[in-house]
Amino acid sequence: MQPSGQLHLGNYFGSMHPNMEWMGKAESSFYFIVDLHALTTVQNPDDLRRFRRDALLDYLACGLDPEKATVFFQSDVPEHCELAWILSTVTPMGLLERAVSYKEKVEKGIAATVGLFTYPVLMAADILLYDTTVVPVGKDQKQHVEMTRDIAMKFNHTFGETFVIPEPQIQEAVAVVPGTDGQKMSKSYGNTIPLFGAEKAIEKAIMGIVTDSKGPSDPKDPETCTIYRIHKLLLPPKEAETLAEEYRAGIPYGEAKKRLAQTYKDFFAPMRAKRETLLAKPSLLDDIAAQGAAKARAVASRTMERAREATGLSGKAK
Ligand code: ADP
Repeated sequence: MQPSGQLHLGNYFGSMHPNMEWMGKAESSFYFIVDLHALTTVQNPDDLRRFRRDALLDYLACGLDPEKATVFFQSDVPEHCELAWILSTVTPMGLLERAVSYKEKVEKGIAATVGLFTYPVLMAADILLYDTTVVPVGKDQKQHVEMTRDIAMKFNHTFGETFVIPEPQIQEAVAVVPGTDGQKMSKSYGNTIPLFGAEKAIEKAIMGIVTDSKGPSDPKDPETCTIYRIHKLLLPPKEAETLAEEYRAGIPYGEAKKRLAQTYKDFFAPMRAKRETLLAKPSLLDDIAAQGAAKARAVASRTMERAREATGLSGKAK
């Protein structure tokens, strides 16, 4: 989970919701806020502190349960950096040079630093430290898991069986959430509807959804209407079908947007309330993060010890 700014509806349905399905299902699951990765793009300390806190708050508010999963900040477990270095010594340059996301990020204007370039090595450490078997990822992240597999196999080949080889689990079924202009919702397109934050801003985003010029009582095709495509995500299938009928019968766009704003408010109201409660208890957040880090370190330090032993960084000289 990247602490890089305000979450939007696309993040909720495209990432948070499907990822949390694993919570409690797997024998153990690890959810962490990758603040070390965020440093490649967020270099204002006040912003990073706020983004870290907000990421934890947002996920807890949306249902992440520290009783069922290990929840922590990446930088609280120093083994991530330690293992990343060791892995970097077996990672071929060519492997990183082929990474698509580095090129894409640099094209977007992110500074071409060593950290940005070696990001997949830190990600490999993130995965391998926990003897991870399954990594649920979107299609865009598949290459990173494949790189992790390559790095782990290279290490095992060089130093003997040490790491579990993880499998990517591609979330094919996850819908692409449209933004207010109908293209994919994304921070970089400025077409998002925030999950939390000022209700006025959410309303403004919804009222600004782009539509065609059909008249108020003209029939509308729900499947091509951005208002409906967003609204549908927030409704049980039966209610979504009833609403689709109303579009076909000709609901005015203004009315459709008002209805969506109300559904949005109702859908996120319990999460918003939970977020407010948590926000008022900063020490509870600190305790959750500290307990999560302790649980994570217990696992990570055992893996790290295996890696130290395998490489000769520990153990008796013969
Ligand atoms: P953004 O495009 O706003 O910068 P990120 O790249 O930070 O979003 O995405 C974080 C996660 O949310 C990723 O797993 C991504 O696949 C998912 N996600 C982002 N936008 C959408 C969307 N419109 N529909 C579905 N999933 C999305």
